[in-house]
Amino acid sequence: MSKDMRTFGYICPECGAMVMGSRSIFALAASDAEIPCQCGKSVLHTRYDGQNYHITVPCGICGETHAALCPPERMLQGGTALGCADTKQFCCYIGEEGLVEKNLRELSVLVQKEKQQKDSEEQEAFLDNVIMYEVLSELRDIAARKDGITCLCGSRAYSMTVRRSAVDLQCKECGAKLRINAATDRDLDDLCCHMKLVIPGK
Ligand SMILES: [Zn+2]
Ligand SMILES: [Zn+2]
Ligand SMILES: [Zn+2]
Repeated sequence: MSKDMRTFGYICPECGAMVMGSRSIFALAASDAEIPCQCGKSVLHTRYDGQNYHITVPCGICGETHAALCPPERMLQGGTALGCADTKQFCCYIGEEGLVEKNLRELSVLVQKEKQQKDSEEQEAFLDNVIMYEVLSELRDIAARKDGITCLCGSRAYSMTVRRSAVDLQCKECGAKLRINAATDRDLDDLCCHMKLVIPGK
């Protein structure tokens, strides 16, 4: 690619794709440039005011759009990276195509990792923290009663697994399960009218 071309790269905050586009330095000076994502929901924009370049870049890291001011020597020569105001990580690369692509790939891996981590954190959280807290404290009260939690098979040994919107009680002898839902007020009311719980074993 000619030395007169500049490549821009960012991560689309909407769909997570790597977005790259190249413009000649003449085109960048002559008029506004737009580098859109294929999904159509984000676009990098550049404008030259005769002195400086104004760039707005959708940020794949924090989801906001950041504005940057670049003097021509940064915009048109060498490699430039623009930082995310929130996280201080680079969210946009400008320069030679191969270098932009390499940096963008690394950024993409990072963004995906962070997204996965966020997703798993959200999965661990409860559907309704207040209800879950109440259900667990009610279960504690029931378990504290004499024969509060038993299994039909005669066992008193059970394990408790807390899930996103339910608590599972499982008999350690026969493996039978009792699911206590913990998502709504009604689930809590249902549980509160039980003095004791019986796992439906054999
Ligand atoms: Zn997109
Ligand atoms: Zn950002
Ligand atoms: Zn049992």
